[in-house]
Amino acid sequence: MTTGFTEPAKKHLGQNFLRDTSVIDRIVLAIAPQPGDVIVEIGPGQGALTFPLLKQHGDITAIEFDRDLHAPLQTAARQHGELHLIAGDVLSVNFSELAAQRSDAQGQIRLVGNLPYNLSSPILFHALDHAHAIRDMHFMLQKEVVERMAAGPGSKVYGRLSVMLQAYCSVTPLFIVPPGAFIPAPKVDSAVVRLVPKPHGKIEVADHASFANVVRAAFGQRRKTLRNALHGVADSATLEAAGLRPEARAEQVAVADFVQLANLLAAG
Ligand code: SAM
Repeated sequence: MTTGFTEPAKKHLGQNFLRDTSVIDRIVLAIAPQPGDVIVEIGPGQGALTFPLLKQHGDITAIEFDRDLHAPLQTAARQHGELHLIAGDVLSVNFSELAAQRSDAQGQIRLVGNLPYNLSSPILFHALDHAHAIRDMHFMLQKEVVERMAAGPGSKVYGRLSVMLQAYCSVTPLFIVPPGAFIPAPKVDSAVVRLVPKPHGKIEVADHASFANVVRAAFGQRRKTLRNALHGVADSATLEAAGLRPEARAEQVAVADFVQLANLLAAG
């Protein structure tokens, strides 16, 4: 499976290549590709997930930044199926345009990937910008990041990432993967998570920018009360109109309440 891949792993590109076939099998099983799906992999690397997916599905689009991997990926992919390789930075790939070009019957793509951990938050926020074009996402991330994504109010790790993701998606942690499953081994545990964007009409956020702004401000100073953290964004009367106590802290506020506050601000 690694024939032709001679380059050492590049740390600055977050290259930890999956080697444990039982983990790879579990991920493919969780994705469960169906005929007609358009599967887009972020960071195929040396093809650990790409080739098993290609064998099952026959057709995968993959976005890889590391130019040294392109030729060996294309060569090795030929025996498994059709690989559409996009060379470049995933953050500059417009998922909505990609979905418009080559989507399934619903106009959506399915995102998968063992993500470069240094870019996981930017990639998640980038995906959120195109949530309507994405049917679901299966990502391997640092376990600690998955815990933050799935956390609820009152948890120590509940924060901006939890609120932003849960407003747009259901977040389901699937399983934990130990460092030994990768070469080179990362320092921490990893976890696989499934994200399913809410159907178009079910997303209650009226204004994406206003919502993102409120959540950023509220958690920018998470030790402060909402009244202080949101100074200049929302006054106490607006907080109360949204059903929030100005003395509360962001870490105690439910996702739905942030949505309500942002919608009230956007309407005013
Ligand atoms: N999927 C492979 C696996 O599981 O073995 C590789 C996973 S490795 C953790 C992350 C991959 O993302 C690497 O192949 C790396 O080159 C690629 N990558 C890093 N930054 C990227 C970017 N900005 N855009 C696209 N791919 C990137």
